Amino acid sequence: MRIDLHTHSLVSDGTDTPTHLVRKAAAAGLDAVALTDHDTFDGIAEAKLAAEALGVEVLGGVEMSTQLGGKSVHVLGYGCDPHDQVLLEELARVRVGRSDRVPAMVARLTELGLPLSVDDVLAQAGGASLGRPHVADAMVAKGYVARRDEAFERYLYEGGPAYVDRYCTPLSAAIDLIHEARGVAVLAHPWGRGRREDLPEPYLAELANEYRLDGVEVDHPDHDDATRAELRALASALGLLATGSSDYHGLGKTRNPLGVFTTDPDVYAEIGRRIRARGGVA
Ligand code: AMP
Ligand code: ZN
Ligand code: FE
Ligand code: FE
Repeated sequence: MRIDLHTHSLVSDGTDTPTHLVRKAAAAGLDAVALTDHDTFDGIAEAKLAAEALGVEVLGGVEMSTQLGGKSVHVLGYGCDPHDQVLLEELARVRVGRSDRVPAMVARLTELGLPLSVDDVLAQAGGASLGRPHVADAMVAKGYVARRDEAFERYLYEGGPAYVDRYCTPLSAAIDLIHEARGVAVLAHPWGRGRREDLPEPYLAELANEYRLDGVEVDHPDHDDATRAELRALASALGLLATGSSDYHGLGKTRNPLGVFTTDPDVYAEIGRRIRARGGVA
């Protein structure tokens, strides 16, 4: 059984509809896929419908934008009740923050000599969860940069010349919200892209022991081989589930093809057991 537990559709910053994403997952030989759009459950119903006809399992997920000491940390929630009002309100608050910063980002870019409008950015978005990738896509459309990557490397990186901060849920609160919505909480790519210093071992231990974090994403394109080996050993020592995923974004990220990393079927089964035991949607 091949299982990919982290993918994005155009409901957030991927480029496939949920239906196309599930079809591509089946074509890539995956048996199960989790749709984990940023800060929204909007694509899950469509993905599950598409999955029925294809014999693929879809696990409903969300990738929450959280912060720890002002640094961005992503947390995956699996099997949450998509009608949980408290979680829905928090996700809506984060999405408002996503939209509200767009005028400031296009103003910065315009000052930098790259005129862009909010409408140019909205034209790139397929859903309610707006992000820097849509700003990047608008810059590509204008010919300012060749690819999303280049927009991030030159302008949009955290602290970059066109970067504008936004509201993110405090990390520990996000884990609690996922649990209260009867889901399973997994830290996404914790040691990727220079994040390791933000999430050192003692802090991961605290998340495991005090916040009952369920797992960490070990196998991910942002982790090199040595990092994966160290993180796998740490997860095992802390009793955390270790997952593996692509973080597929369609055409939006080239190093993340579907199924490039996968999750052990036993770990997937344990995630399903926990979701069912908590009353979530497995
Ligand atoms: P935001 O959601 O607005 O904070 O933007 C962050 C998102 O941009 C991440 O979740 C990634 O999906 C994407 N991203 C981050 N860095 C890059 C990059 N170098 N190239 C393409 N996409 C990126
Ligand atoms: Zn993304
Ligand atoms: Fe992420
Ligand atoms: Fe992601």
